Amino acid sequence: MGKSQSHTSESFTVNGVDKYATFEDDWFAKGASRYAYQGKIFSVNGWWFERGQRCVVKLYKEEYCAKLNEEAWRADKRASLKAQEMAELFNATYINDSNFARIEVLIPIISQIKTAPNHVGRKPVSGTVPDAAGRESGAGETRADVMVREGASVAIEYFLRGRYVEFLSNTSLVNTEEKSFVPVAFSHFTFHESKGEILVTDLQGVYNQKSYVFTDPAVHSMDKRGAKFGYYGPTDLGVYGVMKFFYDHKCNSLCKGLLKPDMSNIPDNLKGD
Ligand SMILES: [Zn+2]
Repeated sequence: MGKSQSHTSESFTVNGVDKYATFEDDWFAKGASRYAYQGKIFSVNGWWFERGQRCVVKLYKEEYCAKLNEEAWRADKRASLKAQEMAELFNATYINDSNFARIEVLIPIISQIKTAPNHVGRKPVSGTVPDAAGRESGAGETRADVMVREGASVAIEYFLRGRYVEFLSNTSLVNTEEKSFVPVAFSHFTFHESKGEILVTDLQGVYNQKSYVFTDPAVHSMDKRGAKFGYYGPTDLGVYGVMKFFYDHKCNSLCKGLLKPDMSNIPDNLKGD
């Protein structure tokens, strides 16, 4: 691509091998709280000709970081790990069906920026934004205008090949144009399996006939445990998220008969959008 890779992360270990990530100056997508950069993962002791594996590096916006600090990343990773645990149970439950696509969840690697050039005073560069992953978009906005602070926490995810699709939104809107049958049943399954404690939703990623690989799922927890933010991070909408899902949800053959919350007392503000 001919772009400079000017930021480097601290090293981390993947399957026993020390690695690090580099990423470009220009973010390609942004969400409410984060910027996403294209990058590559290399081995710390790799050969000079190692080409690296593509990845996406996510950086929290400065104002967000100041508010949430490290807690945001820990909560996000907690959500991914919970979703992965649920996916394994789901796969084990439905494995007998040979037509059934497995569910996997990408777990982000949390690292820190090690080297960062000083971007203060740099003239913002505008440009077209390539097809960004999922909900993050930033078309027409400046891109290299973000101060990347040394020591800032980043989440690194291996790049998913294939078409990136949102199957189910954070407020549980189902994408009926896509193969959402299994993702929707999976969401319901997570409520059942956790005995009504959590609901995994916000399911986006890549489907390839054999499996769904989701990134960045949200976990809504019924008990927010007194925290200012949801136990599972900023996307944890708590009881609201759970009720919203079930208010709109119609069971399919995979999730029919699974545990549902008591909807007899549903607040008015959850009805409709
Ligand atoms: Zn259902």
